[in-house]
Amino acid sequence: GYRSRAAYKLKQLDELEDVLDRGDTVVDLGAAPGGWLEVAAEEVGQNGTVIGVDLQRIKDFDDHDTIETIRGDMTQERTRDRVIDAAGGTVDGAASAADRERASGPADAVISDMAPNMSGEYSLDQARSLHLARQAFETALELLDTGGDFVVKVFEGPDVDAFRADVEEEFQYVRATSPKASRDESSELYLIGKGRLTASVRPGD
Ligand code: SAM
Repeated sequence: GYRSRAAYKLKQLDELEDVLDRGDTVVDLGAAPGGWLEVAAEEVGQNGTVIGVDLQRIKDFDDHDTIETIRGDMTQERTRDRVIDAAGGTVDGAASAADRERASGPADAVISDMAPNMSGEYSLDQARSLHLARQAFETALELLDTGGDFVVKVFEGPDVDAFRADVEEEFQYVRATSPKASRDESSELYLIGKGRLTASVRPGD
């Protein structure tokens, strides 16, 4: 079994849009207790790397030595820098302009299941969820290689369309879905950005 029921959501998302492949480097945001990490480790195999980040401590995995964990707050730049380091990326380390054009992000997939502590007031929880989703998007743009994929949870609400439109600009296409495993939590939506268009340095960066 897995550490969390959430594991089955990631399986469904991966079946739908094939975001996890052999040998991939995957960064998982909001990863505790670690169900998604277990699924990702299975999918990427021995030659892959899985990095999990959470505010909470994530217990060590006896069965998976490809998983590395970081305890930290993804809304803090310090944590984002640690994640980039762990993924082996120097985002502006590409040798030539041609290299930069092609790609230089270290990650093949950035996946985020981050959710706020529930206050019970939906509009507040929804706004916090969207804020976390936007943080995940920023991180994905810093980390993803060209062609890489992005998965992000967000609670449905007023500004989600605008967020989706922003994600659409950076990927070949975006699909929105509510996995069966999460339908009881009816406000949860996952956006899947497939195929990062151009990673790395862009004008103005
Ligand atoms: N995908 C996980 C699994 O399969 O076990 C479940 C994730 S749970 C639904 C959401 C997680 O997001 C919580 O563990 C929470 O601590 C984390 N989280 C919320 N805000 C965060 C932040 N600012 N930085 C890092 N993690 C955060």
